[in-house]
Amino acid sequence: MLRIGCHLSSSKGYLAMGKEAVRIGANTFQFFTRNPRGGKAKPIDEEDIAKYREFAGSNGIGVILAHAPYTLNACSADPGIRKFARETMADDLQRLEYIPGSMYNFHPGSHVKQGAERGKELITEMLNEILDPALSTVVLLETMAGKGSEVGRNFEELRAIIDGTHYDEMLGVCLDTCHVFDGGYDIRNDLDAVLEEFDRIIGLDRLKAVHLNDSKNTLGSHKDRHEKIGKGNLGIDTFRSVINHPALRDLPFYLETPNDLEGYKNEIAMLRSFYVK
Ligand code: FE
Ligand code: FE
Ligand code: ZN
Repeated sequence: MLRIGCHLSSSKGYLAMGKEAVRIGANTFQFFTRNPRGGKAKPIDEEDIAKYREFAGSNGIGVILAHAPYTLNACSADPGIRKFARETMADDLQRLEYIPGSMYNFHPGSHVKQGAERGKELITEMLNEILDPALSTVVLLETMAGKGSEVGRNFEELRAIIDGTHYDEMLGVCLDTCHVFDGGYDIRNDLDAVLEEFDRIIGLDRLKAVHLNDSKNTLGSHKDRHEKIGKGNLGIDTFRSVINHPALRDLPFYLETPNDLEGYKNEIAMLRSFYVK
């Protein structure tokens, strides 16, 4: 069964997102835990969550993916920004316990002139302070395009973060198709080789989710500009291959393409029509 959804606005709560997902033919979704630029999260609404869980159960919505705010930078040179990252992630993970067994995706961070080594050190430092086996959420490192000083620009950097983390069994990876392509991995012409490399360096058992985005830019451009499915340099056939690949087909897929709900609905329907049952 194809597990697919898109990024939804969390401003109206969980039940509203669940209903929106069903309305556009999705059976999972991604959402920001709070304003993507950071700031305070809304207080937990237990009634909304109880209603959501019932709705999700009876409408076949599977595991959902929370996304940390973009401003979360675990490897900033500024201790104040690192503190914000630590507190935000810790708080997000506490709150996600209201929906046990969810996933939480974050951008590892930008090292800004400190070097990738120091970046990886600071990221593992944060994870080692926060990750606690009592939590039920799987924390995902997102593969990054390598824009500016982004850490996670290649599989080796993600591997190093996993290696430095004590409770690494709580960590997984979210593969973003636009990011890896912009990062120099040719999933358009050789998806098999990229996944073999992923398996060799990180291990495919770590791969827990896929962000489906076409790219406005070219292989190795290190840009990170998402495009609608089939309208960018990855092209429609790449997505046909990605969602049907034996190593990927059972993972949840999330669209983060520049679309309104109607556009997402159409992309989901199109991808469903590509999926070989
Ligand atoms: Fe992301
Ligand atoms: Fe992404
Ligand atoms: Zn992106």
